[in-house]
Amino acid sequence: MPLRGVLFDMDGVIYNENAPIPGAIEAVGWAVSQGIPHLFVTNTTSKGRKALVAKLQGMGIETGPSRILTPCVAASEWLRTQPSGAVALFVRSAAREEFRDLPLLTEGAETGAAYVVIGDLGHQWDFKTLNRAFRLLHYEPDARLIALGMTRYWQTAEGVSLDVAPFVAALEHATGRRPQIFGKPAEALFSAAAHQLGLARNEIVMIGDDINADIGGAQAAGLRGALVQTGKFRAADLDGPVKPDVVLASVAKLPEWWPVSATPVNSRC
Ligand SMILES: [Mg+2]
Repeated sequence: MPLRGVLFDMDGVIYNENAPIPGAIEAVGWAVSQGIPHLFVTNTTSKGRKALVAKLQGMGIETGPSRILTPCVAASEWLRTQPSGAVALFVRSAAREEFRDLPLLTEGAETGAAYVVIGDLGHQWDFKTLNRAFRLLHYEPDARLIALGMTRYWQTAEGVSLDVAPFVAALEHATGRRPQIFGKPAEALFSAAAHQLGLARNEIVMIGDDINADIGGAQAAGLRGALVQTGKFRAADLDGPVKPDVVLASVAKLPEWWPVSATPVNSRC
């Protein structure tokens, strides 16, 4: 199967924090000029699509909200396909816009949720908030636990900090409810990406700097994975169980690699 579509991870592939990675803007521009269907795929749940578009545009990448796929977008689209029911959101205010056309549970209510959505609340987590999520699940045995990713921790300016997974794990442990996970490496996000691009999974390559979340997740979902040696990449990543289809010095090498991409992989560029 020839490659036809591209998923760009954002942090560590297009930019590091607020600095574009050299050649990234040109690589995206190349994909646009070639008419290659593409999406920007990120596990961020602390920013809405508008803010992510603004960040890319600020770096000179012209794009729009329909080209951004986040766990919030994938989860809200999935919720629209499910039986209707009240959705309890535990997400930052910036992420709420993706869910605004769904029936949302009244703030503070402790019963009546059909879906309990857990995102990265950061400093807004406290016992009362986590316990409210627990009560919603406990009182409604059929309520679904939705995780906007299962990242365990992340690096912030003030030090390493808990991400989404530990809070989901606490709720899973307390209720026995298995979470439906959106966010790399979960299959649901890659499935949503393929659906959005209108391509078969094996026609799509995920370009990422996270050997497990990006490459392992994409490959397990039937996509191909191109590991870039920027962002969080470490040389030891190449010695683990996940084998990228290709290793690129950076996303800037995408145009150079692309024409030979239909040939057997495990090449380097
Ligand atoms: Mg990344």
